[in-house]
Amino acid sequence: MKVRTRVAPSPTGDPHVGTAYVALINYCFAKHHGGEFLLRIEDTDQVRSTRESESAILDSLHWLGLSWDEGPDIGGPHGPYRQSERSEIYRRYVQQLLDDGHAFKCFCTPARLEEMRVAQRASGQASRYDGLCLTYAPDEIARREAAGEPFVVRMKVPDDGVCAVQDERRGTIEIEWKSVDMQVLMKSDGLPTYHLANVVDDHLMEITHVMRGEEWVSSAPKHVLLYRYFGWEMPKLIHLPLLRNPDKSKLSKRKNPTGILFYQAMGYLPGALLNFLGLLANSVGEGHDEMMSLAQMVERFALEHIPLGGPVFDVAKLDWLNGRYLREGLDREAFIANVQAWAFAPERLARIAELAQPRIERMSDLGSLVAFFFAGRLPITAELLRGGKLDDLAMRQAFQLALWELDALREWKVAGIEIVLKQIADALGKKFRDVARPFYVAITGSPTSVPLYDSMELLGRDVVRERLRGALDVLGAPSKREQDEWKALGAQRAEAS
Ligand code: GLU
Repeated sequence: MKVRTRVAPSPTGDPHVGTAYVALINYCFAKHHGGEFLLRIEDTDQVRSTRESESAILDSLHWLGLSWDEGPDIGGPHGPYRQSERSEIYRRYVQQLLDDGHAFKCFCTPARLEEMRVAQRASGQASRYDGLCLTYAPDEIARREAAGEPFVVRMKVPDDGVCAVQDERRGTIEIEWKSVDMQVLMKSDGLPTYHLANVVDDHLMEITHVMRGEEWVSSAPKHVLLYRYFGWEMPKLIHLPLLRNPDKSKLSKRKNPTGILFYQAMGYLPGALLNFLGLLANSVGEGHDEMMSLAQMVERFALEHIPLGGPVFDVAKLDWLNGRYLREGLDREAFIANVQAWAFAPERLARIAELAQPRIERMSDLGSLVAFFFAGRLPITAELLRGGKLDDLAMRQAFQLALWELDALREWKVAGIEIVLKQIADALGKKFRDVARPFYVAITGSPTSVPLYDSMELLGRDVVRERLRGALDVLGAPSKREQDEWKALGAQRAEAS
């Protein structure tokens, strides 16, 4: 049997280091066994999925040095590799489950489901579909369908007993069936949910080992049941640990940069970042250097060396490793080529030059004007931030609101950024000009500079987030209570607009 693994990202945001981590493990495992690794795009969430996000994910995995044998960009014998292009396939399999009595049509309205949930919560029960539509006779179902009532398709789930999930690394995990919901497999628009599409695709794409984040453990019983209903052999399951912040909480961008594009923008070498992820994926054997190429990671990879505790994404360690890559891993020519590619990417440089042109008298003015494009956190001070009309509280609120609202932007472009900052000024009841000043300082290091929104777009969301966090650190990061209060400021604004 040929080993086949996959990474199956959902294109709903900026490329995340966790995706690269999961991809790397799947890649190493498959290649260690002479097998194949493929990439599938799971874009069943039509509202949140975007093609920009998909391209950014593919580009950043390529940048890291990973490649796949089949995928949406290169095709392959089991395509299409984008779930939005496979609707017909899923419809067939849902019909099969309906015909075999393993699934049922559910006509419950969102209002009824909400009522049910409220009642369940009030009586301390777990939230789970109560099976009302399972009690309908065939003619009742036919009548509702003929009347054009919208319905979803749900899977049947046993009420009693436990599901034993076999995990190749963790052993048997027992989960009670009564805690498993009668999952919606197909939405009222005829499109599948993640669970159905994932199982059907893993089967049709002949995946032998499913290695995914441990947040999916609780979904495993649904998948076990679907394989059983279809009569298919289940791939082996391995749940991977979630990456952690140094304080052991789940890695989150609120505490650590998590975007691959951030590390790219900060001038980390792709090989160093991949190597760093590899160290979190497999412990280094006795006597081995921690500096490893992808080929070495593949050769030494072992399932039993995947850590089960949360591996810590320790940026200080990454810095150390990246430093070694820069000093020891590159000869003079390669180093120069890397510096040129990072600092003088033609398109980016052209946009920076255009922004600077109206603001200089000599080209030698450029250095200080645009240095912030080539920097990490800026050495800003409270004094510099305080030079304008806003007091500390208003500035802290503005930065915190910006962190939330900028994160929620679908597209990272000048137009959206501008709207967010203007809305923040409104929400705080301040003049936009007064709010813009501290943002200039936080983002560019100076109260006057090249245009703010263009600079933010060019720097990228992750770098902007880091700078805003840096400015908040200077003035005092908000407490939990402040955050709760300030969230309401944003909500009031949303209601008013
Ligand atoms: N689309 C899922 C995710 O992005 C994939 C989970 C899986 O690998 O099955 O997390």
